[in-house]
Amino acid sequence: MPIWKNLSVIRKFVQLLAFLFLVYGSVFVGFYSADKLSGAFPVLSCAYDAKTADYCVLIPLQHQLGHGLGPAIAAGKFTLSLLLPILTTLGTFLLLFILLNKAFCGWLCPLGFFQEVLGMIGQKLRLNRTESLDDNLVDRIRPAKWLMLGLLVILLPLASGLGFVGHELGDPFCQICPSRILTSLFAGQLNQLYIDTSSTGYMILSIIADLLFGLILVLSLTMRQPFCRICPLLAMHALFKKVGLVKLVKNYTPRCDKCGLCAKACPMDIREIHTSKEKDILMPDCTLCGRCVEFCPDKGVMALKYAVIPIKVSDPAYFKERNKAQKRWEGKQKPSRRVKKD
Ligand code: SF4
Ligand code: SF4
Ligand code: SF4
Repeated sequence: MPIWKNLSVIRKFVQLLAFLFLVYGSVFVGFYSADKLSGAFPVLSCAYDAKTADYCVLIPLQHQLGHGLGPAIAAGKFTLSLLLPILTTLGTFLLLFILLNKAFCGWLCPLGFFQEVLGMIGQKLRLNRTESLDDNLVDRIRPAKWLMLGLLVILLPLASGLGFVGHELGDPFCQICPSRILTSLFAGQLNQLYIDTSSTGYMILSIIADLLFGLILVLSLTMRQPFCRICPLLAMHALFKKVGLVKLVKNYTPRCDKCGLCAKACPMDIREIHTSKEKDILMPDCTLCGRCVEFCPDKGVMALKYAVIPIKVSDPAYFKERNKAQKRWEGKQKPSRRVKKD
């Protein structure tokens, strides 16, 4: 299969360009344009990276709750205008999100890309890879992203601003975020990979951050996208997923029940795409990577669309070629279903 026809290769290329732009963007566009294109990017493009072209929505959100809204409420000086910065942050996030929906994850996020590259390295090293997690485990992990969003991004920063918890918890997600360490390391900064001994709270948070980063490095070699499964941005995206212009659609056919290749190809173990009879099958955990469309062997059953314009539609000929390319890459035979012609 020519690589320019392979959606996964095209996506990797876009991810690489996005990685370079989001980690070293100020080198390309200059510091003033880089500071900041939106300031509320819908992926983990980190503000701690001194060369970044943008920064993720979670830092202003935590800071506005922890340093603006919380202290104002505690001092009895709450005015509606205090909500304006938060609404501006969410509005910018939403505007960008409408353009690409959750494809910000599958196509642009530096941490998402890094985990996928580690996965490819793991495959090449022939490490014992877990292709899919057990259904029960997937169900148990799924609520974690909501806990991360509710607790670490919203409640603790607000509680810190109100004075109920220490100021260490003013931006707890940033304190443990693996993208902070990853992107700053790639930008040549070692200053985020350290144990902060300035207080017990900071010390605990920096130890958690380093351990989490190490765990993700190791897990990504043998498991598909470990951090994405608990990422608070996935939860935030899920809240707005209906308004995004990129859609994942399915024309259910009874053949789907016997197939299941789409669910098997899904890096996020979203088994529901295989059995769902809905038209819109964009699930909360989806990163819009498009692999399910690539690996659906039935013509027109699955499609990735921009509004009503099809970007990629499932097709038996493409499936055959893509499956072959995958086997060549993995160096072993994978069970595959016989292709049915319409
Ligand atoms: S540390 Fe993580 S959450 Fe905070 S700005 Fe950087 S990428 Fe976003
Ligand atoms: S879910 Fe994964 S791809 Fe999306 S923002 Fe989080 S780390 Fe990045
Ligand atoms: S459902 Fe499809 S597009 Fe979404 S993450 Fe799974 S394979 Fe990717």
